[in-house]
Amino acid sequence: MFMSNRVLATSIAFVVLNVGTAANAQRIVDQRIVDQGVVIENVTLISPERPAPLLHADVVLRDGRIAEIGTNLVAGPHARRIDGSGRFLIPGLIDSHVHAGHSAALDDDAIYAHPELWAAYRAQVPRAYLAFGFTSIVDLDVAPIDQAWFEGTPLHPRFYSCGRGIKVAGGYMAFNVPPTSSPNFPNLVYEPKEMDHWPKSLEIGDYTPERAVSRAADTGAICVKAFVESGFGTFNWPYLHTETLQKIRAAARERKLVLMVHANSVDSWQSALNAHADIIAHGLWVWPGDFGNSVPSPGASNVIALAARAGTHVQPTLQTVAGERAMIDPSLLDDPRLAMALPKAIIAYLRSAEGVKARTALLNEYRKASPSPGFEPLLKAAMERTRATFKIMLQDHVSLVFGSDTPGVDSFGNPPGLNGRLELQNWADAGAPLALILRSATLDNATALGLSHELGSIEVGKRADLLMLKDNPLVTVSAYDLIETTFLNGEPIAVEGLRPHD
Ligand SMILES: [Zn+2]
Repeated sequence: MFMSNRVLATSIAFVVLNVGTAANAQRIVDQRIVDQGVVIENVTLISPERPAPLLHADVVLRDGRIAEIGTNLVAGPHARRIDGSGRFLIPGLIDSHVHAGHSAALDDDAIYAHPELWAAYRAQVPRAYLAFGFTSIVDLDVAPIDQAWFEGTPLHPRFYSCGRGIKVAGGYMAFNVPPTSSPNFPNLVYEPKEMDHWPKSLEIGDYTPERAVSRAADTGAICVKAFVESGFGTFNWPYLHTETLQKIRAAARERKLVLMVHANSVDSWQSALNAHADIIAHGLWVWPGDFGNSVPSPGASNVIALAARAGTHVQPTLQTVAGERAMIDPSLLDDPRLAMALPKAIIAYLRSAEGVKARTALLNEYRKASPSPGFEPLLKAAMERTRATFKIMLQDHVSLVFGSDTPGVDSFGNPPGLNGRLELQNWADAGAPLALILRSATLDNATALGLSHELGSIEVGKRADLLMLKDNPLVTVSAYDLIETTFLNGEPIAVEGLRPHD
């Protein structure tokens, strides 16, 4: 009970020595007892600002922050000791492109018919992000009602948002404009070049770029997202033109908000670059010419080179396209990791006759809307295009930031949490170095979002959002399947405990 520090130190030294390595013997020489907070002992610390991992590291967490880092710290009787032997400690991952309130499993009819399934789904969403290591997420287009729901869940990742995304009347995500506006409706901006689509009932002066940016800022947003989408190369929708985007840019800068631009075509990338967007929120897979041809056009290579030169951050979002495959190929339902993302009842629904029927109906809609040579070959080409342009971004050293666009597709191809893991896999499969992947999902994301004083690395003073893995993420991307503990605000959460409640 009244063991002196000296005696305690000696007994712990004995235990540590028993582990047996020479380096471990070294770390006991000047050891110091830490008797408050959480002490993660003898872990391999991997953090993007360090040129090399710190072996046999001890990390102290206190008051939600990283309090000390050393190689000689041991937990006293009043501290909580966590043995990090054989484990790898990395910063919590940041997913800077999610839509937390959107369904990644049930369509509107299913939500209406099965409110209990919807409730079960929603209960797991925040836990799924944490289970897959995402301790911070950024929602790019959130309705106040969804933000209130997410932030009200008992256990959830740190939540940041761009408020309501800025859209053009009659365009993408705002095809039908109600005669009166409401807080949960798309944040419209008046686009003079698309005035024919403007609803006469709305006062133009209320929809200037400045007002649209303030509407986002008023919800506590750290960013604004503007949609530049003329129709994925297939449709002809009204869209946000460069001059209006530049005004949004100026208003965002005034309020110190990061500007994210939804863009996936050569033209929209160019517009985002002309407006000096901070982040392009998608990869690049649309350019003029034959859609069945997956070889990047000279125009595509050109805008990527321009983005690299301008230092514009890019979220490649390979899963935005790849996730659509779930409509054709439901093998994701057999992925054992899905059991961590979705409750059993949801997976059972997706396998049921009713779920299959809904999926088939959706697929038929996609097939009907697709021009020649048809949905399947076009999807295949689009997947090849996103991957080919991503490879050019890697070669050109574009500043990549990690965002999964969860869910970016209809159907179930972008499950919460797991979709981020699949995106990490896509990056690795396309040849992104593992150190780059980790940095893009941590420090580079934090820096691009203006959050690097709080998040993104394991440094004293930062938020204690960390992951402890059973394998080395600089050796294999599969290490992200072996997250044992997620630390959120200094609190260790066993990942096994984050399974769905059913
Ligand atoms: Zn999105």
